[in-house]
Amino acid sequence: MLRIYNTLTRKKEEFSPIKDKLVTMYSCGPTVYNYAHIGNLRTYIFTDLVRRVLQYNGYKIKGVMNITDVGHLMEDSDDGEDKMIKASREQKKTPLEIAKYYTSVFFEDLKKLNIQKPEVIPKATEHISDMIKYVEALMEQGYAYETSDGIYFDISKFPEYGKLSGINLEEQQAGARVEVNLEKKSPYDFALWKKAEPGHIMQWESPWGMGYPGWHIECSVMSQKYLGTYFDIHSGGVDHIPIHHENEIAQNEALTKKPSVKYWMHGEFMLVDNGKMSKSLGNVYTISQLEEKGFEPLDFRFFCLNAHYRKKLNFTFDGLKAAKVSRERLIQSLYLHKTSNQKTAEEKLEKYRAEFMDAINDDINIPLALGILFSMVKETKSQDIYKLALEFDKVLGLDLDKLPPPKNQTDIPQDILDLVEKRTEAKKRKDFALADSIRDQINQKGYSVVDTRDGVVVNKLES
Ligand code: AMP
Ligand code: ZN
Repeated sequence: MLRIYNTLTRKKEEFSPIKDKLVTMYSCGPTVYNYAHIGNLRTYIFTDLVRRVLQYNGYKIKGVMNITDVGHLMEDSDDGEDKMIKASREQKKTPLEIAKYYTSVFFEDLKKLNIQKPEVIPKATEHISDMIKYVEALMEQGYAYETSDGIYFDISKFPEYGKLSGINLEEQQAGARVEVNLEKKSPYDFALWKKAEPGHIMQWESPWGMGYPGWHIECSVMSQKYLGTYFDIHSGGVDHIPIHHENEIAQNEALTKKPSVKYWMHGEFMLVDNGKMSKSLGNVYTISQLEEKGFEPLDFRFFCLNAHYRKKLNFTFDGLKAAKVSRERLIQSLYLHKTSNQKTAEEKLEKYRAEFMDAINDDINIPLALGILFSMVKETKSQDIYKLALEFDKVLGLDLDKLPPPKNQTDIPQDILDLVEKRTEAKKRKDFALADSIRDQINQKGYSVVDTRDGVVVNKLES
């Protein structure tokens, strides 16, 4: 039984989809004004793990992830310039060129990290008329009002506002920040549509003159268009809980008067050197930058897999190095399993299979699942274990089916591997005399054999 933590109810709940075996899932996608950084990518890895765990449980998935190519202002709370326009000015390119370029790099990053592509990837700029209709409906039903600079959602008309983050609006308003827009009825009212100032380079015709959509309306419109007014899972990073997702709920549920999402899931943040990532600190890394420093993208995926998605994860280069070494050990050890001709008892395999399933089904506990894989590879080398590891890899996404022979294991002849196996068996039986004599035979044939924490390593001796 799969259980997941629902941000809305603040507890782990049994997962049961709205409709049979098809899970409908929406994830907030990137604002394509810049490269995705490793923090963003942690969140996409988290969503990918949720997808893979669902698939492992036999569910089919209809996943939607939007591309925000207009409307996301510098502050999530509708202040500042549009991120796309700022990038367009700074890089002297049109917003379309900016969006196209960063969207394609984003997809390359996903591919490098073995993140599955969602089934539908809608762009905000291709859904403007749907957004206008949605805002009109909110206006007609009295949930929105017009000011000189746009159309705003009136949160006083939606008493449940704040239910996701548990924010107490009365307390908040007492100490509220100074509101720049004096026409707003409440500082928490948010823009559904903005009127374009003269010279604004992204604008569309609307009943309220030329303008562009607010960021939050994009997600409501695109999720409902492709998944309906009630769908299973909505995911994103924790920073989206208090503003973006609160606002999505208000927009969705004002019109339908019923819940819009069954399970809200949020991934915790990635920190760098225990602090926030910021351009001014020069610690906003991309996957390509990690590659330039000699890491493989899957080292980063493996690094992320070692922390539960609801825990903060502190990125350091030492931590990434440790992950790299640990992944190499796993690969070396699995290679020995792959090349073994021994068998493992079915009960033992079943035990690992069950433990792995329990771990992933306990709110996607991937670190625990990885621990189970690591215990499993310490068992006597056998192809059965290798095959089970490949099953687990459907969730982990570490390309364990594409094991390169570990550098020092290349071209080790089968007779040597057989002797290594016999020696391991002898050691297990505590027949150390036999183990030593087999080691001597291996040495005489020109190979060394060393026991490491993660298994046996064989090398060709230098002649
Ligand atoms: P954005 O493109 O800014 O909308 O962000 C894309 C995704 O990355 C969102 O789901 C954010 O919640 C998430 N995100 C942003 N910064 C971090 C971070 N430091 N750690 C983890 N996720 C993040
Ligand atoms: Zn969103």
